[in-house]
Amino acid sequence: MMLIDGKLVKAKSGKTREIFDPGNGKLLAKVPEGGREDAKAAILAARKAFDEGPWRKTTAQDRGKLLLQVAEKVRTHAKVLAALEVSNMGKPLAEAEYDVADAANCFEFYGGLATKIHGETMSVPANSLSFVVREPVGVCGQIIPWNYPLLMAAWKLAPALAAGCTVVLKPSELTPLTALELAPILKDLFPPGVVNIVTGPGAGCGEELAESPLVDKVAFTGGTVTGRKIAVAATGNLKKVTLELGGKNPNIVFADADFESAVDGALFAAFANQGEVCSAGSRLLVEKKIHKKLVEAMVAKVPRIKLGHGLDAGVKMGPLVSAAHREKVESYIAIGKKEARLVCGGGRPKGKDFDKGHFVEPTIFDQATPSMRIAREEIFGPVLTVIPFETEAEAVRIANDSEYGLAAGVWTLNVNRGIRVLRELRAGITWLNTYHPTFNEMPWGGYKQSGNGRELGLYGIEAYLETKQINVNLDEAPLGWY
Ligand code: NAD
Repeated sequence: MMLIDGKLVKAKSGKTREIFDPGNGKLLAKVPEGGREDAKAAILAARKAFDEGPWRKTTAQDRGKLLLQVAEKVRTHAKVLAALEVSNMGKPLAEAEYDVADAANCFEFYGGLATKIHGETMSVPANSLSFVVREPVGVCGQIIPWNYPLLMAAWKLAPALAAGCTVVLKPSELTPLTALELAPILKDLFPPGVVNIVTGPGAGCGEELAESPLVDKVAFTGGTVTGRKIAVAATGNLKKVTLELGGKNPNIVFADADFESAVDGALFAAFANQGEVCSAGSRLLVEKKIHKKLVEAMVAKVPRIKLGHGLDAGVKMGPLVSAAHREKVESYIAIGKKEARLVCGGGRPKGKDFDKGHFVEPTIFDQATPSMRIAREEIFGPVLTVIPFETEAEAVRIANDSEYGLAAGVWTLNVNRGIRVLRELRAGITWLNTYHPTFNEMPWGGYKQSGNGRELGLYGIEAYLETKQINVNLDEAPLGWY
């Protein structure tokens, strides 16, 4: 059931959508297929809660305490949430458990931050007490993708609520189950209308959040093509927009890297979460001196990536999220076979365990060049493109030759070079001698067409705050201008 105005409700149209387990094709649930009218009702509820409800008068301390309670509830429900995430999205259980723990930590981080939002006093050239206060931006539409359903919900809800906004969250129509599991918990904690969750597709339901003149801010995570549409839709009332979009992220290995760490790091960067990660290290740039050896070592290790249903023991890679998405990934594999050299994977795994799921083998293409489609376009699946390079300057040039700029990794034991190269890279999230660790304390977001704005950390709350100046005249005398 969706959460609108403090009530758990069906779609007004009565329509539902069947949600299937991508690992075995089993029907998991029927959820409300919300439309424009449901999004409208949720926006109205959020508007009312913001403009007239008690939320604006709630103290930062109370908001913080509520978020800490959400964190605890997520922890109490961790087992259920993790299993649901695996069944709905496909990821391995160990990854889902990590996501759930991180989601709880995110609510906790912003629970703590709620009482630390403050303005400042300025020295101005007048007898004036001039100070700045921070206020919530208002009603926020929040649209999230299917690859980290619960975690993305936490990244969106926690800072907005800490700031004092009211929200309408729309999960991906493919993966609504963990957000819907959260709905009754949020219903019990927050006043009606403060948090609303609508399930439904981008068309209609999502569009309303981006277009509505009653929404003050839209926060979107998803594909770059959709992000562009949202930015355009938001121009109607010039609502504030933050976008977390795609990537084709370079992971650069120099010959002086710790070899085993680089092999592990390259595989994990590419294949964690089936490669369905915006920050995946999907372009592996390898210095020619070690290129052959590194590719051979990766290929030798790939069989250790056990494929299967995410709930089965020892599984390291699950199915892709849907049949349609697998087709998209496979179409890129077909392109790759024409463009570069396939060195492992490239097909569907065989065996009855895989028949009903949307599985694709971990796939590596070698000897790619920067102009190839598999080196430029986001595939969003378990497909790694390897590009050899000769010099540091060439590595930087290739790495930056992308319309995206989300994340990047560098592997070298030469710290000077490591930091020098990271500073040269046009990307918002970078790692030296590691890949993927994501911290609630650190700002998340991209350069170029990977989006605008930052989530997480102290930076993440900025998008949910307005800044107001207050000037108090300390003189009694009239202005005397006329
Ligand atoms: P998507 O863009 O297809 O959908 C994302 C969300 O937008 C869904 O909830 C969808 O229903 C909604 N939507 C679709 N069209 C809409 C419209 N016209 N108006 C309003 N809402 C609309 O993305 P996806 O396939 O769910 O996720 C994969 C993409 O997300 C990848 O490109 C990936 O890189 C990106 N992503 C980025 C980050 C990041 O932090 N930068 C994180 C995760 C995923």
